Amino acid sequence: MSSASIDRPFLVFRKTRGNRFTLPVLLGCIEQEGLSGDFRILLCGSPEEMIQKRGMGQGVIAFSFMTPDLEQVRDEVEQLRKSLLGNFVYLAGGAHATGDPEGTLRLGFDFVFAGEGERTLPAFLRLFLSGRPLAENILRDGKEPSLSLSHPPHSLGHRLFAPLEITRGCLYHCAFCQTPRIFGHSLRHRCPENVSFYLKQAIPFGYRQSKFISPNAFSYGSRGGKSPHLEAMEELLATCSEAGMEGIHFGCFPSEVRPDWVNPEVLGLVKKYCRNRTVVLGAQSGSDSLLEKLGRGHTAGEALKAARWIHRAGFRPHVDFVFGFPGETLEDRKLSLGLIEEMIRELGAKIHAHTYMPLPMTPLFRDNPSVLDPATKEALLGWEKKRVLDGWWKEQEAIGWKIVEWRDQGVINCH
Ligand code: SF4
Repeated sequence: MSSASIDRPFLVFRKTRGNRFTLPVLLGCIEQEGLSGDFRILLCGSPEEMIQKRGMGQGVIAFSFMTPDLEQVRDEVEQLRKSLLGNFVYLAGGAHATGDPEGTLRLGFDFVFAGEGERTLPAFLRLFLSGRPLAENILRDGKEPSLSLSHPPHSLGHRLFAPLEITRGCLYHCAFCQTPRIFGHSLRHRCPENVSFYLKQAIPFGYRQSKFISPNAFSYGSRGGKSPHLEAMEELLATCSEAGMEGIHFGCFPSEVRPDWVNPEVLGLVKKYCRNRTVVLGAQSGSDSLLEKLGRGHTAGEALKAARWIHRAGFRPHVDFVFGFPGETLEDRKLSLGLIEEMIRELGAKIHAHTYMPLPMTPLFRDNPSVLDPATKEALLGWEKKRVLDGWWKEQEAIGWKIVEWRDQGVINCH
């Protein structure tokens, strides 16, 4: 190894299940900026691996995480600060850091990236290399985001590929959701030419199953109108097919679709170009009054109608429901359980159940979850046993109350 290689600082990313779609993008941006040769880049699945691979030296340790991981991240940073010899700076980014930058600094980080990191992380790394001190330790991208998404979605250098992010931002204001608070309310899409360019880069590495990241896949191409832009969607799907994708999956994990954007025409397009058997639908509740309080902008009836269209088009509806919203009554829950029962019986739907977790920066963050009643839990467990319901609702129930504790102890700030 040359002395130049030994002298290069480390850039160590903590790799988790939760950031598996983020790291390929960040590494891709670092490559695009020509910075990957300036660092010895490591991706580590545990603090032990970080210590073993990087017991001493100098450089940057980077975490990207969500609120439920807070405690583990705090413990790991503490462990690393005690065990890693040398001179490292600790960075945090991701949804939690964006929602509560000051609280994230207090977890033991030196710098926090609030908001989108595709430009701020490379800019920080350049400054780090130059040795110039930074005036701020909360870093935000001050520039207007460009109207379309064009950053690299993957890292060729590290052979790291993720589902392709096609849309950022959300037109809606659901009171429990961080997405529009992080990415704003205008929709930014990745144009078909850009999609084609990056898919063609990825295919030689065996990436042939294209999946997409979008808060509402059927909003692709829309600039604010509240119905699908069929021409834009068809152009995107045709582009993926022409680029050589063998299995296009659209409107399913890691995306979902809103009920009020589902219609037979848009489903016809998915049928024509895609391989997915399910469409993931965000219903969230069977109670119209609760949906209204949450600012969802659709009714339970629209969710049922969308699930019926999905079923008729030959897909299995995989429907998201959330239990335990603040102020959710037993009557609201009965309406949700009734709607679930109808979707399973009539449409063979699969349900993806969640328990509400308060997240920083959302309007509901100050309100406590409502306690799940035994009858609701029993119903969910019954469907789980019959394999018509999945999701992490039991784990989320416990985490939701943990977050309340952290909020009340001031570990997380209320903004
Ligand atoms: S839940 Fe979905 S529709 Fe509502 S604000 Fe979040 S991303 Fe938008």
